[in-house]
Amino acid sequence: MTPLLMIPGPIEVSEAVARAVSGPPPGHVSPQVIEAFGCALENMRRVWLARPDAQPFVVPGSGTLAMEMAVTNLLDPGQRALVVNTGYFSDRMGEMLARRGVEVTHLRAAPGGAPSVSDVEIAIGSAADERKPFHAMFATHVDTSTGVRVDARALIQAARVHEVLTVFDGVCATAGERFEMASWGAGVYLTASQKAIGLPPGLALMVVSQRALEARRRLRTKPPMSVDMLEWLPIMQAYEARRPSYFSTPATNLIMGLDITLKEILAMSRDEDLAMATRVRLHELAAEAFRASWEAMGLRMVPAAGLEANTLSAVRYPEGVDATLIGKVREQGVIIAGGLHPAIKDQYFRVGHMGHVLTHPDDLVRTVNAVEAGLIACGLSIERGVARRAFIDAFG
Ligand code: PMP
Repeated sequence: MTPLLMIPGPIEVSEAVARAVSGPPPGHVSPQVIEAFGCALENMRRVWLARPDAQPFVVPGSGTLAMEMAVTNLLDPGQRALVVNTGYFSDRMGEMLARRGVEVTHLRAAPGGAPSVSDVEIAIGSAADERKPFHAMFATHVDTSTGVRVDARALIQAARVHEVLTVFDGVCATAGERFEMASWGAGVYLTASQKAIGLPPGLALMVVSQRALEARRRLRTKPPMSVDMLEWLPIMQAYEARRPSYFSTPATNLIMGLDITLKEILAMSRDEDLAMATRVRLHELAAEAFRASWEAMGLRMVPAAGLEANTLSAVRYPEGVDATLIGKVREQGVIIAGGLHPAIKDQYFRVGHMGHVLTHPDDLVRTVNAVEAGLIACGLSIERGVARRAFIDAFG
């Protein structure tokens, strides 16, 4: 049996997406790529719940490249940024900002925690009072290293009081967690193709507000050419107008798949708000059911109560169990991931639960069964079947 990929990205993709990306490479000026690209750009605004004037970007690359694009297009060296730091990927954002010559302030929390919104309000307020305002605030919507989700809406509200531009790394969140770009007023919401969006790796995706684009136009130090929003902007505009254009070759196979996956995401309703609410609800239900089965096996989560993401579980090994669990779970035909946060790396494992797989409850049950069997093989005494029962009771 083909192993089931249940790491927090890359993830299993739908059959239609797998077909769309695996054909012979179409040319970037072929009619089918032009149409798929144009549709995908339009549908990104809907999935992101963004304003009609917000600008989507689809660029070949990874999530890290999307982060780089945000950092280098919004801030000049010497400007100030606040990083709401929840782990490994917030650290990466901070390092990128520092390499750009930006003056970075981190608000940190212990692994599994998140800085409080009031601490963020205080930090932003006092910087403004001291006439050294932050130009932008960066946060990781879901930090994949800890499974912590921040309260994006409240953080954006706190930043907007002082007109601080906001950038959210949604790599492990977009299309799985609620994010209302237009009504919350975010500056940039970025992601990568291999997570809840439901594609193989290879695309950096983001939607950028007009205000954030203005910040790019005002820069004194241009970003590297390959990630310059002003180089890519006419290309995005052309494809949306169903005209071909060239700056740097787009990842044509992935764009064919992007069109399909965004249509699948929006298929729940003609109303994008309802479609996204339904999709997020499914992620919530699955996350609750996974947590119920971890609890039934006596396991504890890494994130503090109330901060658990819907897109993945970060779960502590019980007493006497270590990373050998991952190999035992693999023997059951399911691939899960180890820890990532450097401070607690050896103390927990991670299971992704996002995207297409959520429409296959049998695969979700297969996953909790495999973890249960793995724990039993590691010597833990658990009653066989508790994980499955707890999952089914909660998932319904
Ligand atoms: N941010 C977050 C929250 C992530 O989970 C990841 C990837 N796991 C990245 C950024 C970096 O993305 P990539 O590996 O595609 O460069």
